[in-house]
Parts: sequence; structure tokens; C-alpha cells
Amino acid sequence: MLTRRRARCGRPNGRGSAPGGHGGGEVVGASWIKLAMAEYRDARVIRTSDWGALGMRNASPLNLVGATRPEIAALLADLDPRPFRVQQVYHWVTRRFAGSIADMTDLSLALRAALSQRAVLADPSLRAEHRGRDGTVKYALELADGAVVEAVVMPGDDRTTLCLSSQAGCAMGCIFCVTGAFGAGRNLTAGEIFGQFRVLVRRGGLEGTPLNVVFMGMGEPLLNVAGVFGALEFLYETVSPKRVTLSTSGIVSGLAKLAALPRRPNLAVSLNATTQEQRQRLMPVAARWPLDELMDALRRYPLERGRRITIEYVLLGGENDSLDDARRLARLLRGLPVKVNLIPFNPDDEVLPGLVTPSPATVDAFGACLAGAHLNVTVRWSRGQEVLAACGQLRGGLRNTAPVRRGQEEGAVRTTAAH
Ligand code: SF4
Repeated sequence: MLTRRRARCGRPNGRGSAPGGHGGGEVVGASWIKLAMAEYRDARVIRTSDWGALGMRNASPLNLVGATRPEIAALLADLDPRPFRVQQVYHWVTRRFAGSIADMTDLSLALRAALSQRAVLADPSLRAEHRGRDGTVKYALELADGAVVEAVVMPGDDRTTLCLSSQAGCAMGCIFCVTGAFGAGRNLTAGEIFGQFRVLVRRGGLEGTPLNVVFMGMGEPLLNVAGVFGALEFLYETVSPKRVTLSTSGIVSGLAKLAALPRRPNLAVSLNATTQEQRQRLMPVAARWPLDELMDALRRYPLERGRRITIEYVLLGGENDSLDDARRLARLLRGLPVKVNLIPFNPDDEVLPGLVTPSPATVDAFGACLAGAHLNVTVRWSRGQEVLAACGQLRGGLRNTAPVRRGQEEGAVRTTAAH
């Protein structure tokens, strides 16, 4: 069956201004605390001189965005160690999207004041926001160290899809991807990834809205398993694992780690080629994890009942879009529980010159060939192209830097993929 629909997701870019300087949450600084204290007439004021008694001397404030239950329990140990209290605070961050500790209105004023002395609620700052005519909104979000990542909101008929970044850049160097053209960036922490989600939900007024979450933004999620797997646990508080999709370029060692998770998201694999030589030309990751190893890993991958692996295939005019490619792809996928997303290439003449979008007729013929082989195929004409939020178009804070050269990218791939 060949179906057509507009793409739900992309690898993002944006412009706009942050309300009040912070996108979703706010940093609780000394002046904020003074203000809060003035409001909390009944609160027991905890001065820094009390910290020794509280075991807090020299402690830096814990960011509750990204804090686990045990970390919150340790924080509350001398204040109110009851398990339900820990759960309350955790849920204010992960389910109720509190913007500040003051918002946690079912905690006593005294407890909120005490908590404000030793913890903050700090999300990434909204640096820019750009809205497309198709409803796609791309956000540029600044992290505490100044790194900028992009995240995208794509409204749908019955669900809104949020696309998150896992790294501030990407070392994988896929030749069709703007993010990859700018080279490696650091891994995001679980709190920074979940913070993107919180900002998007709060900014978009999406509390209570049915959501999908896709890890298809900047970065290779399986090169940041600590950050991504940690963020999944926070996300699962409001989004079912069935509604979360992790997309990888084919990190075979990471697939084994993903397979071992007790609660797994959906898996998408960015395949884009049907021979080792072709894949290595388009995606340097194939030099480290060859196509046959990747396909073996997909055959072994444990899928829950009713789930399928999504195979993403970016169609590049004259590169991988022939009927021979389509037939080889059908053979490669034979017997695998998959659905195929065909993604006509999103052009970027500035950063990715020489790559072209195939004609609609070519896309149709490619899809029809796969459908004729009884594969479930969707053509995903990407949304968000006008705001550079479509697949392969995200570059975060890299807009004013030059793309790295091919040789540098490949070196980075070998280094990064080794762990
Ligand atoms: S497609 Fe994904 S893995 Fe490849 S360079 Fe872009 S962000 Fe990295």
C-alpha cells in the first residue's frame, strides 16, 4: 500500500523572541528568592548559615529538570522525606510542567521556600521561534553553556508531534544533512533533552494534548544513550513509549543497548542506501557499522507485538532513487516487520550544494515498486521547509560557522562511533 501524507517531522532551524527571556522555566536566582520570601510571610526562612545543619554547605543547587526520584528524595531528606512528597515534586516537573518552585502549590509555603534555597527549575532558554504557514514551529533553545539546539512542533489532525535534539551538533556526517555538515557537538544531558520537551509543551500550550515525540532533531541519539535513556523515563510520565520514536543512523552497539531497555520507544532507522558502497558514500557511519551488520541487528531486534521498525529512506535525485535501488531495498527488507518512510530530499543549496530532490514521478515510481513488493510505504513530503525545520535542515547555533570538511567529519565518526 502506498500512501501519501505530509511529513510529521523534521530535523529542524528559527527566529523570534523569548517571553521574559526564558522559554519554559525560569532560573531561580537570589533576587527571585527574595521576592518569593516576601510573599511567603509564613515561611521559615532558611539562611545560608543554616546550610551546615542541613548538610548543604558548598552544595550547588540541584536542577529539578532532569532530577530523578532518588535525587529529589536526597534533596528532601531533612525537610520532608515522605515518599508521596518526593512524588509530588517529581510530578510537578515531569507531568505538570511547573515553571517555578513557587508553582508547586500543594507544597507548603515553608517547604517551597526551603526548596528554593537548594534547587532550581531551569529549562533551556528560548532564543528564537519561527512559525511556518503549515503550522510547524521551530524553536532555537540555548543551554546553560551557550550551546544552541533546535526542536520542532508539528501539529497534526489528532496528535501533535514534538521533535527533540539529543546532541548539539552531529559527528555522523551524513551527506544529505545540514546538521551533519557542521560536525560534532556535545551530548545533551537527560535534563537538557527533557527541558526541550517542557519548553515546547509550555510555550505551545500543549498540556493535556495527545503527543508524539520523535528523536529526529540534531544528533545521533544512540551516541548519547545516557542522556536519551534518562530523558525517556521523564517523557514516559506523560507520553506512552508507543508514542515515542528514536531514530538512528545505524549504531549497532546502541541498538543492543536499546533492545535491553525494559520500556522501549519505537525504532526508526535512517537507511538511505541498498549497498555497502552506496551507504558508505552517503553515510560515513557505514564504515564503522556495515550494512549487513545493521540488517542482522534489525532481524535480531526484539519488537513488541504490533510494532514495526520504521525504515527512513531519503530520496536523493540520481543517487539512490532508481528502480534498481527500489528493488534492492525491497529484497533487503524482505521478511522484516517494517514500514518505509520515503523522504524526498530537502534541498539546501548553501550548505549541501549538488544534491537534488527527485521528481514527483520518480518518487511515485519508487514507492509503487516497494508497494508492489507488499511493503507498507508512506511518502513524507517534509513539513517546515520554509522555516528550515524539515528533515536534515537543523543546525542550531551553527548558523554562523563554516561546515567542516569531509575528512574531518569522517575522523569524528570513527572516534565517536567507537564507544
Ligand atoms: S542525519 Fe542524523 S545522524 Fe546523520 S548527520 Fe544528520 S543528525 Fe547526524
